[in-house]
Amino acid sequence: MSAMSTGRSLADLAREAGVVGAGGAGFPTHVKLAGQADTVIANGAECEPLLHKDTLLMTHRAAEVVRGMALSMAAVGAQRGLLGIKRKREEAVEALRAALPADGSIDLLLLGDFYPTGDEYDLVYAATGRLIPPGGIPLNVGAVVHNVESLLWLANAADGLPVTDKWLTVTGAVAQPRTFTVPVGTPFSALLEFCGGATVPDPVAMIGGAMMGRISDDFDQPVTKTTGGLIILDRSHPLIVRKTLPIESKRRIGKSACDQCSYCTELCPRYLLGYDVQPHKVMRSLGFLSTGSAIQNQWGQMCCACGVCTLYSCPESLFPKEACDDAKVALREAGIKWSGTGREQKAHANYEHRRLPVKKLVKKLGLYDYDQPAPFSPEQPSAVRYGYPLSQHVGAPAEAQVAVGDVVRRGQVLGELPEGKLSARVHCGVDGVVVEVGATVSVERRS
Ligand code: SF4
Ligand code: SF4
Repeated sequence: MSAMSTGRSLADLAREAGVVGAGGAGFPTHVKLAGQADTVIANGAECEPLLHKDTLLMTHRAAEVVRGMALSMAAVGAQRGLLGIKRKREEAVEALRAALPADGSIDLLLLGDFYPTGDEYDLVYAATGRLIPPGGIPLNVGAVVHNVESLLWLANAADGLPVTDKWLTVTGAVAQPRTFTVPVGTPFSALLEFCGGATVPDPVAMIGGAMMGRISDDFDQPVTKTTGGLIILDRSHPLIVRKTLPIESKRRIGKSACDQCSYCTELCPRYLLGYDVQPHKVMRSLGFLSTGSAIQNQWGQMCCACGVCTLYSCPESLFPKEACDDAKVALREAGIKWSGTGREQKAHANYEHRRLPVKKLVKKLGLYDYDQPAPFSPEQPSAVRYGYPLSQHVGAPAEAQVAVGDVVRRGQVLGELPEGKLSARVHCGVDGVVVEVGATVSVERRS
């Protein structure tokens, strides 16, 4: 008997199963399921270069993804479901097509090979022709967006299964690039070993992608529900050097070298979509000290941090994305909210023509040699010690439900939602014994 047949709503089951947005910051999915929308969109765009996990998940688990979509549509009262996937992912497209229901309620949304087609604002526009109001969410225009892995988790949740495993790709400078599933909590070191180890002397990981991911050399850290994949590069790779330059240097170089050519704005995906993001104006704020910068900062407020301006557009190799990051922090601290800059809300006439092909981006990033398949592997890496951060989602941390010495089972709740707060449950991915409880619950595997 499925958990749904017990009469509980999908939102309840998603909350119990700890389902969150697998493709972003980990927004708790049960909150999205409480609204009403006419369209549900699956985000399988996977526009970050080199990553393949969403594509292979859709290839191998198409039926569950489609089931998750149907359940989600029923939960929010939607009549239309669209599965967003790049046209070039032929095998996954065929697998999804074969799993579509005959009634036509769910269809494919075939996307071009551009970056960042997976930006929620861009995806909603591609699916519905509607522009999310500045600072708004898809629900404001009658849409709900789920990552495809979250749809798989929803299908599992309907059967009473919690989130215990994660799909990911490990690629870049590794002996054997692979895509596979692992128990949440597995340390990065085990993933690296599973892929034959690094092929460079001083490896660092770009976690979640080359454009929007963060960089770390801590291979003891665990896989969380939002870890999309690892791209391994040497610390001396120009992309790593550029990304890890101290912020003071980024600001100083920008202040002295920006010639206001405005290429960063002209190629900004959000600007092209009709939002008033103008990073070249935000760069001017670097020249102000205590006054004036707030005026320039407002043009960074709708920036989605895609990184195109810094890593592709700027001919001087400056850091407009980081200036927008700074601007958003400054505006938040000053309590200044989006009030609009008066620009008409409609896509730029050159929206289609100025989109950034992923192939060009890969070359510019210096990743051409690593643009390789990372085939699905049914085997899994194994480790001794697993880590479960109680905060691996948007909202308040979960509250620990176990103590040191407790014997725990795969699927057991380690962290519970605090009463009345936005949060998500955390479940154990392996059978074992709790060896530490703090901000992270550590479990030693016993099997
Ligand atoms: S593209 Fe570079 S140089 Fe040109 S305005 Fe933007 S930050 Fe300045
Ligand atoms: S990171 Fe740059 S290109 Fe991307 S949205 Fe922000 S300003 Fe635009």
